[in-house]
Amino acid sequence: MQIASLFSQDKVVFSLEVFPPKKTSSIDTIYNTLDNLKDTHPDFISVTYGAGGSVADTSTCDIASRILNEYGLIPLAHLTCVNYNKQEIGQILDLLSDNGIKNILALRGDINPNIPPKKEFNYASELVEFIKDRGGFYISGACYPEGHMDSENLDEDIKNLKKKVEAGAEHLVSQLFFDNTYFYDFVERARKAGIRVPIQAGIMPVLNKSQIERMVTLCGASLPSKFTKMMQKFEHSPEALREAGIAYAVDQIVDLVSQGVDGIHLYTMNNPYVARRISESIKGIIHA
Ligand code: FAD
Repeated sequence: MQIASLFSQDKVVFSLEVFPPKKTSSIDTIYNTLDNLKDTHPDFISVTYGAGGSVADTSTCDIASRILNEYGLIPLAHLTCVNYNKQEIGQILDLLSDNGIKNILALRGDINPNIPPKKEFNYASELVEFIKDRGGFYISGACYPEGHMDSENLDEDIKNLKKKVEAGAEHLVSQLFFDNTYFYDFVERARKAGIRVPIQAGIMPVLNKSQIERMVTLCGASLPSKFTKMMQKFEHSPEALREAGIAYAVDQIVDLVSQGVDGIHLYTMNNPYVARRISESIKGIIHA
């Protein structure tokens, strides 16, 4: 099923993101996560690809294929392009297609200083165009409520985002953010720029202080004072921080849904406990 068509239903689309474990020997942890999450009935589950600019193996395809065939859920396979040439991307697309995977989140990928880019794909929009020309897939793309770190400003980033949509991205998933006002401002500017596709809000619950520090370094999300005070207050009490983090994410989601958001994409960090608690807390809200 095409993910973009989920947005024509009369409800807020709710999806989860998981990532392949770093060690292939830990692959079972992902299936434990999925076993624990399947009855929360997400509209789809996305699977990341070689995060941090590394070159990935077939684990994204393997996991996406099991999401489809064993769990009966819609997978969204992430795919990065900057470290591949067209022939290699073609082979990955064949593998995804042979496994029945129809939805791809087309990404540039981070530039890893240790891996020189192959320069056949410079931007995600070029990957979108390539996949579109090949046919057989529905394409999603990433977007950045506070602007991408490489962009000079948000207006420039939105101009480039429009190219990605014009190339064929039918749905957008946002980078995480902790202050909803950035998301509302971004959506308003994107709509003014003529971007009409559904935009899903990416929400990451806090699990611990180091996770947030890492994420903020990677993506530059702003931390509102309400959030930093919460981190300071509970940083030495992991359980309290986790509980506060769940409450903070639920609060963000309630506000987003009240303001008419198209969908919520929950970065689960492969933590089924937190994802389940949030899914259960918002069940009655997203279906209202
Ligand atoms: P692009 O859309 O290509 O944008 C990158 C930069 O280039 C932006 O600054 C943009 O404004 C600029 N740009 C775009 N087009 C042009 C143009 N034509 N001319 C000039 N400038 C242009 N990384 C992974 O490695 N694996 C994953 O699974 C993964 N999943 C992600 C999921 C989501 C929802 C998000 C938000 C990010 C994810 N990332 C992932 C991170 C992503 O790969 C990085 O943020 C990467 O640096 C940019 O990827 P992009 O697809 O957004 O790039």
